[in-house]
Amino acid sequence: MKATVMYGAHDVRVETVPDARLIEPTDALVRVTRACICGSDLWPYNSMPSATTGNRMGHEFIGLIEDVGSAVRTVKKGDLVVAPFAWSDGTCEFCQQGLQTSCLHGGWWGGTELDGGQGEAVRVPLADGTLVALPVGPDHALMPSLLTLSDVMGTGHHAALRAQVRPGKVAAVVGDGAVGLCGVIAARRLGAEQIIMLGRHADRIALARRFGATDVVSERGDAAIERVRELTGGLGAHSVLECVGHGESMRTAAGIARAGGAVGRVGVPQEATIPNAQPTFYANITIAGGPAPVRAYVHELLPDVLEGRIEPGLVFDRVTTIDGVPDGYRAMNDREAIKVMIEF
Ligand SMILES: [Zn+2]
Repeated sequence: MKATVMYGAHDVRVETVPDARLIEPTDALVRVTRACICGSDLWPYNSMPSATTGNRMGHEFIGLIEDVGSAVRTVKKGDLVVAPFAWSDGTCEFCQQGLQTSCLHGGWWGGTELDGGQGEAVRVPLADGTLVALPVGPDHALMPSLLTLSDVMGTGHHAALRAQVRPGKVAAVVGDGAVGLCGVIAARRLGAEQIIMLGRHADRIALARRFGATDVVSERGDAAIERVRELTGGLGAHSVLECVGHGESMRTAAGIARAGGAVGRVGVPQEATIPNAQPTFYANITIAGGPAPVRAYVHELLPDVLEGRIEPGLVFDRVTTIDGVPDGYRAMNDREAIKVMIEF
């Protein structure tokens, strides 16, 4: 089968790899129908040291179950399923509290040991805890939005929850990538009255406004902080969704949160320390967040997608085949595309 393998910075290849197959009785074999490239795939795309053994890529996918192991109970052959970006057993202490990204027996797709989502098929470990069956066919018109439940929509929702978005309050979103845009959807969905998007790309700003952003701040650094303060009566935002992970974006997020407010961070931190320790301390600002347990959110967000109340699939502005994946990485890295969907 064909799959995406990264060998180093700017070195993504589509190769023939051993066919995915069942190994454990708790596995499912999924034939991928839709997958995508993530903003977080761009971190290794820009920094991975050259390796002779590449890393299998992709952690967002929908597909048809081709076969299941003897212990699988909740999904079956023929089901169309969405996979969260982490796999999990669904039964341990952390899964039971809805924190599947800390599953005691779970893990992450791809790398050198497991299949990744950017390939024709995937062995899914712990299928019962990991996969969610979808009540539609594989070519349903809502497929792009359903695919976002594997990561970006759930991650935006997680940022909003950790930032304590409340009805009638002010939310600010740092980062205009797919997660930030989904964060706007999530903030609106949770009732924020004023939603300030910090971003600079015209196409992304237009989408943010469509999703519910009421204000756009395109300045950077201190100028951005000052502008958000102006827009909020000098006080700052109750809730800040940090959807980038750079030191600079975290500095901005901390700088625009009001006293007693919260920053929900879902961008993978690229620096070892959190900036602004003293100002956030003196202002009693909560800093929370981490990898989103999107598995916990699929059931909550699914009805809104199926009934058309939210349309996160609009973040996909380019579609490719498996052979076009390397150019898809380039396009996202060059900010030519917001997010690339792969059709199989
Ligand atoms: Zn678990």
